Amino acid sequence: MDVNGINRVVSILKKEVKKWDIPVVGVIAMTSKDPFLVLISTILSLRTKDRTTMEASRRLFSLATTPGTMIKLSKTQIEKAIYPVGFYRTKAGSILGICHDLIHKFGSKVPDTMDKLLSLKGVGRKTANLVLILGYDEYGICVDTHVHRISNRLGFIKTKTPDESERALRQKLPKRHWKIYNDLLVAFGQNLCKPVGPLCSQCSLLAQCERTGVKRVYK
Ligand code: SF4
Repeated sequence: MDVNGINRVVSILKKEVKKWDIPVVGVIAMTSKDPFLVLISTILSLRTKDRTTMEASRRLFSLATTPGTMIKLSKTQIEKAIYPVGFYRTKAGSILGICHDLIHKFGSKVPDTMDKLLSLKGVGRKTANLVLILGYDEYGICVDTHVHRISNRLGFIKTKTPDESERALRQKLPKRHWKIYNDLLVAFGQNLCKPVGPLCSQCSLLAQCERTGVKRVYK
C-alpha cells in the first residue's frame, strides 16, 4: 500500500470510528489536557480494558492529581484505588517512583521531550508518545499492538516489532495523520480488525487492504 492508499484508509476510518468508543486515554485527554493525568492514565491502561482503566483513573484522580499529592499516598492506597487494572501492584510502585523523579529531577513537571520521558522508570515509547501527543499537542506516533498489527495487515509497512513499526511509520506516514493514527487504529482494532478473527467481510477497507498474514475471511 502506498501513501495514497493510507490517505484513503485514514479518511474512511475517520467516518467509521464515529460508531465506536474513543480509546480511554483519548477520553481522559478530552476532559483534561494535563500531561500528568495523561501519563498516569496511560500507565494504568497498559494491558487493561478501557472501562477498567477509566474507572481506576477516576478513583485515583479523586485522591491526587499532581506528583506532590500523589507521592503522599501509600503504595497500598494506590493499589486499592487502581485495582483491578493489570499488574496493579507493579503499577502502584511505578507511579510512586515516577512521582519521586518528577519532583526531584523535573521540578514536579512532566517533561516534554522523548528522551526525558523515557528516563522515567516504567515509561516506554508508547506511553511517551501519548504524553507528547495528548499532553503537549506535539507530533508523535503512538504504536501499540493494534497500530503495529493493522499497519502490517494493510501492507503499508512490513515490520516485526512495534518499535520497528514506529520507525517505519515516522518515515512513511504523512505527518498530518500522526496524532490521530493511534486513536483510529485502536478503535478499529478493538471492534473490527481484531487480533484473532478480523471481520474482513464487514470491513470498509477490504478493497484497499493487502490482508498480509490473514488466512481466512471471518464473518
Ligand atoms: Fe483488517 Fe480484514 Fe479490514 Fe484488512 S480487510 S483492515 S485485515 S478487517
